Amino acid sequence: MFKKLKILDEKDKRLRQVSKEATLPLDKKEKDIIEQIIKHLTYSQIEKMSEKYDLRPGMGLAFPQLGILKRIIVIVYEYEEGKFENYVVVNPKIISHSEEIVALETGEGCLSVNREVDGHVPRFARITLTGYDACGNKISLRLREELAVAFQHEVDHLNGILFFDKINKTKPFYSENEIRLI
Ligand code: ZN
Repeated sequence: MFKKLKILDEKDKRLRQVSKEATLPLDKKEKDIIEQIIKHLTYSQIEKMSEKYDLRPGMGLAFPQLGILKRIIVIVYEYEEGKFENYVVVNPKIISHSEEIVALETGEGCLSVNREVDGHVPRFARITLTGYDACGNKISLRLREELAVAFQHEVDHLNGILFFDKINKTKPFYSENEIRLI
């Protein structure tokens, strides 16, 4: 059965708090929430399902967006038309990153931000991220481009940061020779 998630809106102060490390292994309740998130994000990216359940498309969600201040992030990435890869990382840490900065050309969106926000969000082009899976096994991921951006966006949520915090207020758009737009 599909249960639509109740996602906090940007005005909610909980989104501005720093989340706490999760205890491993995760308990059943936390694992159930992860399954719900995966389903929600997957459906949101399938047009028929997103219409049926009235879901805004999104590829990532962090636990604090549900009001649960634990360091857990979930990303559902459509790597090929109709094919999805799920990433669940508990207590993620970005341990290294590229010098190169990129930004999504069309800007970023967030399931907690129910409005259009214009502007480029500078992000590292490549990151190495470590953390744990739901069972407590250590994982290490090397991520690039769109996926690297998505992970940085979600890790920011764990630190109370929203994507528009990182948009330059006086000059929200970069040109191609300033940073690479993807
Ligand atoms: Zn977000």
